[in-house]
Amino acid sequence: MLLMRYIVQRERSRAAQKIIEEYLMPFVEKERYQMSIRCRLHSDNDLYRDQEQHKIRVVVNEWKCGYCRKRFYQEKYLDQHFDNRHYDLLNVSHSRCLADVCGALHCDLVMDSTPRKTKCNPAAASRNQHLCESLADSCFPVNEGPSASRLHEFFLWQFCDAHTFKGGQKPFSRGHRVKFTTTFTLFYDQLYFPSMQTSTKPYGSTFCN
Ligand SMILES: [Zn+2]
Repeated sequence: MLLMRYIVQRERSRAAQKIIEEYLMPFVEKERYQMSIRCRLHSDNDLYRDQEQHKIRVVVNEWKCGYCRKRFYQEKYLDQHFDNRHYDLLNVSHSRCLADVCGALHCDLVMDSTPRKTKCNPAAASRNQHLCESLADSCFPVNEGPSASRLHEFFLWQFCDAHTFKGGQKPFSRGHRVKFTTTFTLFYDQLYFPSMQTSTKPYGSTFCN
């Protein structure tokens, strides 16, 4: 049971990291803004960062542990190996887990598992919205200047507005980074998921409409 919890937590943490990399960092980099360590989205606050950086994908069905070189057929077995053998290498200095902010960042949208059926849950939506706004305030304090102020506004638009019941705003509507190859990255301001273009309903498991 405990192991299962760790696996889910790791998956959600990875989803949060992916969202931060694709839907937030391109805009932060564009502003040349340095996020404070007080911001929960700062990479140093990712409990699994070091382990994730020690994952080596050899070929499609072969993963290698970067610490001890042991090989695995699937990523989930490498994850279990990390939990069993390299637990001491978790980045526990800040004891924060990115999985905790998943609700605010809409992690369910990027996770491999089948998306949960959209369900009206006003309490969860309100909680996620509150968490989302507190992330905007702590990561991009508006009194820190024009860049922080612009990113604050962007963050609310990109992540938080979709938690509210007004407007029908979709998450990630400001676009994301697109990777064509591992060495060449392009970024478009207004690039939508194909599925978003056809949907009139906002995504998210907590949205009520
Ligand atoms: Zn190992």
